Amino acid sequence: MQGITILGSTGTIGVNTLDVIRRHRSQYRVIALTAFSQIERLADQCEEFKPSCVVVVEADAAQRFADLAKKRGIEVEIKQGAEALEEVSRHPDVDIVMAAIVGAAGLNASLAAARAGKRILLANKESLVMSGKLFMDEVKQNGAELLPIDSEHNAIFQCLPVDYTQGLEAVGINKILLTGSGGPLRELPLDKFDDVTPAQAVAHPNWNMGKKISVDSATMMNKGLEIIEACWLFDTNLDKIEVVLHPQSIIHSMVEYADGSILAQLGQPDMRTPIAHALAWPKRIASGVESLDMFSLAKLEFERPDTQRYPCLVLAKQAMAEGGTATTILNAANEVAVDQFLNEQITFTQIADTVDYALKQCTNRAATAIEVIVEADAEARAVALEYIHSLKPKAGVIH
Ligand code: NAD
Ligand code: MG
Repeated sequence: MQGITILGSTGTIGVNTLDVIRRHRSQYRVIALTAFSQIERLADQCEEFKPSCVVVVEADAAQRFADLAKKRGIEVEIKQGAEALEEVSRHPDVDIVMAAIVGAAGLNASLAAARAGKRILLANKESLVMSGKLFMDEVKQNGAELLPIDSEHNAIFQCLPVDYTQGLEAVGINKILLTGSGGPLRELPLDKFDDVTPAQAVAHPNWNMGKKISVDSATMMNKGLEIIEACWLFDTNLDKIEVVLHPQSIIHSMVEYADGSILAQLGQPDMRTPIAHALAWPKRIASGVESLDMFSLAKLEFERPDTQRYPCLVLAKQAMAEGGTATTILNAANEVAVDQFLNEQITFTQIADTVDYALKQCTNRAATAIEVIVEADAEARAVALEYIHSLKPKAGVIH
């Protein structure tokens, strides 16, 4: 029986994780669940999975949860505050930590899991984008096990030899083919991009995901973040990674070997596959995902991404090439911009403009310590907001 903490249990990845665990109750014991604001859902999860502890980050929401738990007769220890997320990540009864908080808010708890030498199922790609080297160093130094949940990285991991610690070239790998659907705006005429609404941007054609990552998919910043994530996870560099648009989202990524072989992982676009894979690795367990009917696949298409359509993809590569805190700045400015777009304060194309501005305006420093990362993140958020406020008169007439 393995103990598991699910950071962000009320989100899309959290709910899917619990669905896989539901099928294997004798193998996994839920120790802790964490949430930000979805109190009712957290209460439902507590009734079903009986964790010993929950973390509700904000004081108001924690109080509301306490009242609800009392009313519903739920017995669970309730912790409040961001630091409690770290406590439940390093708890001695916990073997596995699902890191599924969205954004920079997930960094400290993911790091705590690394420092405690846990098996980390990493959905929170932002941790690696913000502080790739420091995060990977903590994983190695503390004997933690890092398994990718992002479907592309999980697919790549499945296509790699069991031991690739000598580096990808040493095991005969030429390149990684990182697939992406191109999101909901792949065919929208470029002159319509200024009018894209939040509802249009979050309507992903193949995947059902949280709002932030859905907007990131529409701008393809998500693919940019994933390139950076892949560089750190697989200890490789930008020229070994090629982005391939694949609108059907059936192939989740590929690896090309020196002999001309390309290995791909295929499946339904359903996050329960990578979740089940990483939970049980190196074994395999059922995930609840329907098997892929090869006869019903009409066609699989592949395209080169158009950089004019997806400027965020270019910005992400540029930040990775610059190194230091550039990817921290990229991530922070993007989080601010996406949030402001979702709140109808800026237009869709201003997301890329904001990130571009922050990258030019903020000082890039050597990413030598978490304190440097935290500072760079805060500076980039302030600069991004300042830029957005300078746009205000324009934004006011748009929505
Ligand atoms: P979501 O918005 O559905 O859920 C986010 C979770 O984080 C919720 O449980 C919420 O309570 C919690 N949270 C939000 N803000 C918080 C804060 N400030 N402090 C603590 N907790 C907070 O997001 P999601 O789609 O489940 O994505 C989660 C992570 O997984 C993201 O990093 C995303 O990039 C990654 N990911 C998601 C998918 C997917 O299919 N949804 C695929 C690949 C990677
Ligand atoms: Mg992905």
